[in-house]
Amino acid sequence: MPATGAVDKNCGGKTPLPSSILIVGGGVFGLSTALALATRHHSGKITLIDSSPTIPNPHGSSVDSSRIIRADYAREPYAKLAATAIEKWRSTDWGREGRYTQNGLLLVSSNRHKFGVEYVKSSYDNVKAIYGDAVEALPTKEAVANVVPGYGTAEHVTGGYVNWGSGWAHAEEGVRFAKKKLDETGKVDIRTGEVVKLLSVLENGERNGKQWKVTGVQLADGTSITADLVILATGAWTGRLVDLRDKAQATGQVLSYIRISDEEQAKLANMPTVLNFSTGMFIIPPRNNVLKIARHAYGYRNPKPVPVPLSTQQSNHEATTTVEVSLPEKDAPIPLEGERACRTALREMLPAFANRPFIKTRICWYTDTPEGDFIITHHPTHNGLFLATGGSGHAYKFLPVIGEKVVDAIQGCLDPELAALWSWPTGSQHEGEGEGADKGEEGSIVWTEDGSRSGEKGLVLAEELAKGKNGEMVTGSKL
Ligand SMILES: Cc1cc2nc3c(=O)[nH]c(=O)nc-3n(C[C@H](O)[C@H](O)[C@H](O)COP(=O)(O)OP(=O)(O)OC[C@H]3O[C@@H](n4cnc5c(N)ncnc54)[C@H](O)[C@@H]3O)c2cc1C
Repeated sequence: MPATGAVDKNCGGKTPLPSSILIVGGGVFGLSTALALATRHHSGKITLIDSSPTIPNPHGSSVDSSRIIRADYAREPYAKLAATAIEKWRSTDWGREGRYTQNGLLLVSSNRHKFGVEYVKSSYDNVKAIYGDAVEALPTKEAVANVVPGYGTAEHVTGGYVNWGSGWAHAEEGVRFAKKKLDETGKVDIRTGEVVKLLSVLENGERNGKQWKVTGVQLADGTSITADLVILATGAWTGRLVDLRDKAQATGQVLSYIRISDEEQAKLANMPTVLNFSTGMFIIPPRNNVLKIARHAYGYRNPKPVPVPLSTQQSNHEATTTVEVSLPEKDAPIPLEGERACRTALREMLPAFANRPFIKTRICWYTDTPEGDFIITHHPTHNGLFLATGGSGHAYKFLPVIGEKVVDAIQGCLDPELAALWSWPTGSQHEGEGEGADKGEEGSIVWTEDGSRSGEKGLVLAEELAKGKNGEMVTGSKL
């Protein structure tokens, strides 16, 4: 791999960056990585390509009215890294002009549910150590109700805590700001185009224990782009290009929005975000008279046949067959099951709005991994290919800092604890089936078990959409 020999002030120049780098994807991972590469004075050629004609991409996972910015994690490495990101949101340009609001986060759970209770306890310990008095334990339902007097607390809530050090970001505006920062560097060639295939060749002998080398990408219009290093930051679509079965999959999560009056907006604007880890339901304070109700759960799978993607098992030969991969579905309606969950959450958390009609609903796509860990690592069998994905429904907050970590990982100097967390996943654990074994369709499925997920496991989007009002199957699915 030709190197520029660029001096890297953050990484000690351990592994020099290659001359040409192509980033595929302009969401949180792609933009943050491009910014880090540009600001490390990489003198080589950096290109970023996205299939969306606009960045922010309205269909990308990084774009929405709001995202929770929290250090409230059950696992310490994420809590610590999130605290560094929050510092950027709070006290630098990242959070200015309304992009970040520090309103606090109320995390609650219910002892009557099997989900979320342990997560809330561990998360409390982690943020208490970071934020001290800004974190208040709320051991009873009454204590919770005191913090959110306007919000009803669901009957089953048994306690939680509030962290006044957390907040929320205007997701679309954050992405727009990152893109603007990138444009200002003048160092990254930003293009529009859909990558349909990774190009690879058999190397002359092994390098880094790998036989294959990715040389670039092929686009939908038939042209190709070559690069010394291709970084896939393609989010929930990544499984189309690289075989991630049993390692990562797109899961659809429901969002709904209601319109509120000026008076209601004023009343709710400064409330803390409420996240119930036992049900997965959360409500972020409204902006511009629109209130969002959403669910963080196991989500829906959306299996689709795709040509066999680049795999650790296969060579560069033309794909002759297809595999089934869960992928995002553009503009899909939300199933009745999801709509009902949002309605129940409104009834429980904001009873005054229980019957307010939804003005918009949406399915947003997580890139879920078995443990909820990101995948920020070189591909195990192909040189010249790096992955920066696996957001698992919690990567947005890291927008100001994740790119630096990606570049550290490329250069081999990422903090070993994070490197271990974000290494190539061994895959979902299915009894008696080892890495690389043909696990069949069931074995390829990923449900994130990081302790934060709740709800029913195994929902398939098309099946849910095909159900009628009483849960029976009706003909003519909406997908
Ligand atoms: C409903 C929802 C709520 C969330 N809430 C939170 C939260 O509260 N806090 C938090 O921190 N995180 C949250 N997240 C997670 C966070 O938003 C994601 O982890 C993060 O935005 C993922 O970024 P990404 O870059 O991987 O994906 P994306 O933003 O989707 O970017 C991927 C880009 O790659 C492009 N692309 C894909 N395939 C190709 C191709 N073949 N060729 C060219 N371009 C391609 C796409 O067009 C897209 O623009 C939430 C996510 C969702 C969906």
